[in-house]
Amino acid sequence: MTNAQNAAPQRTRHEAHPPSHLFYQGRQRRPLIDRADGLYIWDVHGRCYLDGSSGAMVSNIGHSNPHVLQAMQAQMARATFAYRLHFENAPAEELAARVADRLPGDLDRVFFVSGGSEAVESAIKLARQWAVATDQDSRWKVITRQPSYHGSTLGALAITGYEPLNAPFRPMMREMPAIPAPTAYLDRDALSMEERGRRYADLLADEIERQGPDSVLAFIMEPVGGASTGALVAPDSYYTRVAEICRHYGVLLIYDEVMSGAGRTGAFVAAEHWGITPDIMVLSKGFAAGYAPLGAMAAPGRLVEPVLDAGGFLHGYTYAGNPLACAAGLAVLEEIDRKHLIDNAAIRGTSLLQRLAELKERFPFIGDVRGKGLLTAIELVADRETMAVLPPSLNAHARVVELAYERGLIVYSRRTRGGMEGDHIMVCPPMIVTEAQLDELVGMLAAALAAFAREAGLPGG
Ligand code: PMP
Repeated sequence: MTNAQNAAPQRTRHEAHPPSHLFYQGRQRRPLIDRADGLYIWDVHGRCYLDGSSGAMVSNIGHSNPHVLQAMQAQMARATFAYRLHFENAPAEELAARVADRLPGDLDRVFFVSGGSEAVESAIKLARQWAVATDQDSRWKVITRQPSYHGSTLGALAITGYEPLNAPFRPMMREMPAIPAPTAYLDRDALSMEERGRRYADLLADEIERQGPDSVLAFIMEPVGGASTGALVAPDSYYTRVAEICRHYGVLLIYDEVMSGAGRTGAFVAAEHWGITPDIMVLSKGFAAGYAPLGAMAAPGRLVEPVLDAGGFLHGYTYAGNPLACAAGLAVLEEIDRKHLIDNAAIRGTSLLQRLAELKERFPFIGDVRGKGLLTAIELVADRETMAVLPPSLNAHARVVELAYERGLIVYSRRTRGGMEGDHIMVCPPMIVTEAQLDELVGMLAAALAAFAREAGLPGG
């Protein structure tokens, strides 16, 4: 018997749940969730939703996967917590070994945390401690991109180029330098995409020179953009040039693969698409795919050993390396392999991009369709030629999300301010999605876009 049939659970006024009444999205409330299975979620009123964004690009292997649930139950029956100063635990050991095996190059030391922000904090602190331990005390600046998203804790926020989120906290944090994100698709010049890619990368060299090379510790980037830029993929030349510039200046390259990692882009990590081995990589979200709070930072021994020799990493979370979370992560990896979900993400991603391109034919206010694997987005514009944005009063991205939600489709959106403005809608279903489910998803999205067009008086309705 479901909760809907039984005495329905009551919503209280006390749960300060971030997306509802405490977070920046305001006071909007959502129904209580009842259960979820595969791509579908039911609320306590019995309504069914297709999860077209895997939550916030998290539920990569779908909901209620029996293999993961069994693995977690087995671990739960043994031990749910082990404090790291007292015990090591087998799930963490095994997961670290498997992740090290999967990551490119020498990224073979893995440090577990409970989420993306914690993983980013860990990366910044490891980088800084490595600099101190190797007589590079002057290096402390972390260059970031505008816009970007790296987390909500104060350290991660200081390297987040996302105006509405960090404005009130400016006096409390040391803001870091930022260069423009590589929005080459918006440029209207005679350069080729590859030339534009190099030009955006060269902005990093310029910024390092401006800041003073000896003061710059690291550069952090999302290889495929997440919520801030809407699945932004740079021209290939950008990735190689950025890596060369970092190497040239002795600046550590940090890849934030919190959203793009764990198979979503059709490779275990997006870095593989460009053959890049960053100095530090962070993972979360799809890594434990919503079954437990889990994130990871991976770094090579050449960064970790000097820190250990100098007395150890001055950083740690009580729940870090939690055996239950790591057992979930391990089972998620097993499912990804067993069901060939990375290949599926690549194949279905190509199909999804084609379907979104067809929507672009139908709706003139879709200005761009982009992404890699199943990390895809559409951008809504007033004019496709100039890529002029829609009037903010239309609140286009939020209206489309709402109209989709009313039709039983969950998608994820942003209108990033600061550096780049544009309504984008992320379409990122779980990696188990089938062609038939893509049909269903895109059909519902088309209906929501048509309703939006009618409402806003735009063509395509
Ligand atoms: N980095 C990126 C690229 C992200 O997308 C996110 C979450 N949206 C984070 C970091 C922060 O992760 P969390 O919300 O788990 O702290």
